[in-house]
Amino acid sequence: MESDAIVVGAGPGGSATAAHLARRGLHVTLLEKATFPRDKICGDGLTPRAVKQLIRLGVDVSEGAGWKHTRALRIHGGRIAPFEMPWPQLADFPDFGMVCRRSVLDQRLAEHAAAQGVRLVTGANVSAPVIDERTDRIIGVRTGDGRVFSAPVVVACDGVSSRLATRMGIHRREDRPMGVAVRAYFRSPLSDDDCLSSWLELWDGRPHESALLPGYGWAFPEGDGTVNVGLGMLDSS
Ligand SMILES: Cc1cc2nc3c(=O)[nH]c(=O)nc-3n(C[C@H](O)[C@H](O)[C@H](O)COP(=O)(O)OP(=O)(O)OC[C@H]3O[C@@H](n4cnc5c(N)ncnc54)[C@H](O)[C@@H]3O)c2cc1C
Repeated sequence: MESDAIVVGAGPGGSATAAHLARRGLHVTLLEKATFPRDKICGDGLTPRAVKQLIRLGVDVSEGAGWKHTRALRIHGGRIAPFEMPWPQLADFPDFGMVCRRSVLDQRLAEHAAAQGVRLVTGANVSAPVIDERTDRIIGVRTGDGRVFSAPVVVACDGVSSRLATRMGIHRREDRPMGVAVRAYFRSPLSDDDCLSSWLELWDGRPHESALLPGYGWAFPEGDGTVNVGLGMLDSS
């Protein structure tokens, strides 16, 4: 099956790429191994910078369209009381953030791409690139169930462990730090909070009496009765 461009992976990166290309008149095939809705470990927090990208894609980001808006970032840390940093009022950015579960956000973005004319194929697990032997360039991809998709341009948006990039000889930089995180949803009255909350100090025991770990915690209100709570550690030393 021939297109102008193939995008592998319908996360936010892939769906946005595919939608932008289709809005400029290209025939785009977007291949996703999962079927929607699918979950993804994430904090679900969208900063104004991310909201701006949704607006650029033509997504209706109003609360009326079902989006949970946030007004500020509440910071806990140090020996002072928590304080709020409102999202800034800037000409080029919206002055609000949002929170949206990835099971909802990623499906919305994939469906938005399809509405722009993208051919979305779910359940398509890309297993290998198709290489032109004369030029040694990628000219398509093969899926695990034997289908072949062809295009002069292939964009790998298959996530952090990108199998496609690896198969093209691009490997993770070992000198870059690796992070680990845990996340869970809790039912909480804080679900309707209009702030993202971040704890910038992560102690491995009693605060100020134990070791300070390199990481931070978050609690992001989903507006549906639940809060996304997690902590991540990143050792960049
Ligand atoms: C713990 C944690 C918390 C985070 N919290 C936030 C946050 O609060 N706010 C924020 O903005 N970012 C957050 N992030 C970062 C965010 O998750 C990533 O930046 C984002 O998911 C990257 O999007 P992507 O489209 O590049 O890749 P992904 O979202 O990983 O999407 C890749 C897609 O490719 C598909 N795929 C993979 N392999 C194949 C294949 N072989 N064939 C076909 N399809 C394939 C996958 O199924 C998936 O749908 C967090 C990340 C982590 C780990």
